[in-house]
Amino acid sequence: MPLLVLGSVAYDTIQTPFDRRDRILGGSGVYAACAASFFTDVNLVGVVGEDWRQSDTRFIEQFGVNTQGLETRKGAKTLYWSGKYFNNMNDRETLEIELNVMGENWDPIVPPSYQDVPFVLLANGSPSCHLALLEKVKTPKLVIADTMDFYINNMKDNLLKLMKKIDGLILNDSEVKLLTGSPNCISAGKAILEMGPKFVVVKKGEHGALYISPEEIYIVPAFPTENVVDPTGAGDSFVGALMGCLAKTGIEDTSKIKNALASAAVTAAFCCEGFSLEKLKTVSREQIEERLAALRKMCSF
Ligand code: AMP
Repeated sequence: MPLLVLGSVAYDTIQTPFDRRDRILGGSGVYAACAASFFTDVNLVGVVGEDWRQSDTRFIEQFGVNTQGLETRKGAKTLYWSGKYFNNMNDRETLEIELNVMGENWDPIVPPSYQDVPFVLLANGSPSCHLALLEKVKTPKLVIADTMDFYINNMKDNLLKLMKKIDGLILNDSEVKLLTGSPNCISAGKAILEMGPKFVVVKKGEHGALYISPEEIYIVPAFPTENVVDPTGAGDSFVGALMGCLAKTGIEDTSKIKNALASAAVTAAFCCEGFSLEKLKTVSREQIEERLAALRKMCSF
């Protein structure tokens, strides 16, 4: 079944201990939509400014992503983010963030053909924008939202409102603690279940992810890769592949969620193996299947 992805469409400047790239294609919506496209039909909703390169729209379309919902605003600039990775290539600091066209008053446009889409991914972005989008889709079967420290610190009221309207929340280990005030990922995850979502996925970077629902706790490791070039977008690719896979298989039982979490881990690892979406662009469905089989072997005991 088709998936709608709302998220940022951005230009990023990335510094790693080994290399640097300026104003390359990024954004939570871009990574999530392209990663999801390995599994299902994807409809992207986002906004860019006058500095947007049309070649980047074509690049996203080459993944098979429908970009009819990508709005271009005159007189505005595309979201810009700049980050620097520490030597461990896992931790990073944000050097600059200019929300620009994605500032708080952006009201996402949902083309009529997207309004009945049963699966909705609210990739990392402003919770007010997420709420506005939910007003414009009819009766989605599954809604997952991703968030980050920036929104927990600056837009917590709207985030709390959003949490009452979604099925799943995904965030990283430091963010789950920041949101709940709990120092432990499991108790923080359980506290989030009291705030609305039916399940929580806690991303732990190179240490994998935790799925927490009232019924069970499940862990998925990260796919081990030696070739980490740029981890930017790994979290977005993870949630994109997770939702793409669920849109394809359905969500009838938790085995579907476990399978989707493994696909998400594999896709996120591919994302880290190149700057921007360079590596994901070269990956085939068969390579994803091969790594899934390898991951299954690595985890059996
Ligand atoms: P990740 O590495 O998965 O956390 O995602 C990094 C991506 O998120 C980058 O491509 C950025 O353009 C994008 N990003 C950074 N800050 C924000 C923000 N405040 N809102 C939306 N997207 C953001």
